[in-house]
This record gives sequence, C-alpha cells and structure tokens, in this order.
Amino acid sequence: MKVGILGGGQLARMIALAGHELGFQFITLDPTMAPCAASVSQHFMHDYNDTTALKQLAELADVVTFEFENVPAASAELIESFTPIYPSPVALTSTQDRLVEKTLFQELDISTADFAVINSLADLQTYACDGQWPAILKTRSEGYDGKGQVIIKSPDDIESAWHQIKGAPAILEAFVPFEREISIIAARSTHGETCFYPLSENSHENGILKFSIARANDPMQSLAEDYVSRLLDRLNYVGIIALELFQTKDALLANEYAPRVHNTGHWTMEGAETCQFENHIRAILGLPLGSTALIGHAAMFNLIGKPPEITDILSISHAHLHLYDKEPRCGRKIGHINLRCDDKLMFNEQLNLLLNLTKLSNC
Ligand code: AMP
Repeated sequence: MKVGILGGGQLARMIALAGHELGFQFITLDPTMAPCAASVSQHFMHDYNDTTALKQLAELADVVTFEFENVPAASAELIESFTPIYPSPVALTSTQDRLVEKTLFQELDISTADFAVINSLADLQTYACDGQWPAILKTRSEGYDGKGQVIIKSPDDIESAWHQIKGAPAILEAFVPFEREISIIAARSTHGETCFYPLSENSHENGILKFSIARANDPMQSLAEDYVSRLLDRLNYVGIIALELFQTKDALLANEYAPRVHNTGHWTMEGAETCQFENHIRAILGLPLGSTALIGHAAMFNLIGKPPEITDILSISHAHLHLYDKEPRCGRKIGHINLRCDDKLMFNEQLNLLLNLTKLSNC
C-alpha cells in the first residue's frame, strides 16, 4: 500500500514513521530540496500546483493525504479526480478562510468569540465607534503560529494595525480572557468509526505552541467531543482533526480547526495507546481505529530554535526526544520532547525540569 502526502515537513515525517510500522510506503510531494520527510519517503520535489506532478502522485499512491492546510484546494481537488484524498478538499477550503471557518462554527452551534468582518480601514473605524477593546485583527487567510494577526488595544492602534496586515481582508475578533487553551484531537475513518483523545491543555508564547499537557477525565471533555463531532459529521470527515478551543469559566469557544495531525497531539506518541499519526493512517485506509487511552501522565514540549544539549534532555529518565532532522534556526520548530510517566509526583518533577530546560534554550 502506498500513501501520498502533500508536504514533506515534520508532520509528514511522523506520519510516515508510524505508517512504516504497519508496513506501508510513502511518497511525499514538497517543493523544497530536502524536506525532513525525504529520508523516510520517496520524495518528489515539485510545486504544489504542478499538475503533472500531482497526477503522477495520484497514479502512484493508493490514497493521498496532506500535512498542512495551506495546500491549494485546487490541487487537492485535482488529486481527488484520480484517487481518494483524505480529509476531503472541502475540509481544506473551510479552514483556509477564517470567515468561512467561523461561519461554519456558527452554523453548527459551536460557540466562538464575537467577530466582525473587516474589508477596509473604514470598517475598522466604524467598529471603533462602539466596539470593545482589546480586539485581535486577523487576516482571513494564510495565518498560522500567530502570523497575520495584530492585537489592537485602543482605537489609536487602528491605522498601524491595518498597515501591519497590509490591508488584507480580515476579521476583528474580541479578545478572549481565557482561563486556558485546550484542543481536542479526534479521528474518523472511511467507515465512519470515530475516536477522541483526552484533551490537551496548551501553552503558547507569541502565538507559538510551547507545551501541551494531556488531561485525563477533564470536565470539558464531553463538550469538546460534542463540538468536534458536529464538524466530523458536517464535513463527512476522514482522518485526524484538531479543534482548538478557549475555556472561559464553563464555556468553550472554538478558535480554529486543523484538518490534519496536530502539534498539540504529539504527546500521543508515547502517551496514548495508539498515536495520532497511526490513527490517521488507519482512518484514511479504512482500518479499525486504535485505542486513544492515555497511559499514565503525558506532556509535550516543543523545541524551537537551538535545542538544549541532547545529554541534558536524555538524563531526564521519562523524557523521549523526537528530532525532525531540521537545521536549527530562531523561531523554527526542530523537534519535541515527550514526557510520559505513571507516577504523578515523578511526572510533575520531570515536567518542571523540562520547563526550565526548554525555557533556557528556546528562541
Ligand atoms: P491563532 O492563529 O488564531 O491560532 O492564534 C494563535 C494564538 O493567539 C492562540 O493560540 C491564542 O493564544 C492567541 N489568540 C488568538 N485569538 C485570540 C482571541 N480572540 N483572544 C485571546 N487570545 C487569542
């Protein structure tokens, strides 16, 4: 069985590594010379809208998937006319535009922060007349890891915020004074079987995920499952999906969803009976899904920029290092560390060690 992946970054690499264990082969299509999945797949170096390369990928692969949501929807649709691609291109198009995504949440009765559509500086000025501050101006497309968004603290910041996003079509979102950020990772197979992982509680800095902690029996689990189930049903979804949420008191507000394996689910590699990457493969190939049960306590720390000394990491007995074979560069995710432990006290001790270690070296 051959699986094609659009994108050759770390997510494709981890999908391929998990899929190799099941005996499958992988072909990645990525425009860069040596993306980090190239060493674990047959790599085609082509642009994402190179129709000849897309057709070739569709011919060689039994099923195709993607590792990031900015794959051109037309490319996914072209592949779909030759071979199955999961998740389906409609899951891509509705997340590539924040307005379409927020409207989908509203249609499904999934709560979100209040927002206004902004197409011009005049729209922002109109909002300023009776709007609430602070608010966040977010470009409708191409935003990730905090890119394409500016916090507006008062009407005085309006013009500079508008220039910072270069006048792109945007939404203005109410700033949510959340108690915590959580995400739910779920899977649905081609047969409609679904499964849900325990919630991840996530900490970001400057819009970039720093670490996630898996939460067993969280009081918000069932509401999060309910929300993500509505998305899975509406999109007739196949594969892993991640829904990012803000918690305020007893409410959950959806921020965005990702139609792919997700950084906040990396702890599942050691922390769950079946990791998100394996369940993604199982889902898209129509195989039974594996148990998502949390094994003891688990957390994940991103390595961003220059990593700590490898011996310092590995001297923490319950730490598991995953490096992506990427050159360290400031702001670049080059790997992650998973912590998994049965004993709660030991887990908390090593969690603190890892917090300090990754704080010192991340840039
Ligand atoms: P996003 O690109 O929408 O995923 O946002 C990146 C991060 O910015 C989120 O994980 C939050 O930490 C923060 N953020 C985004 N939107 C809001 C909001 N409406 N209120 C408060 N914080 C937000």
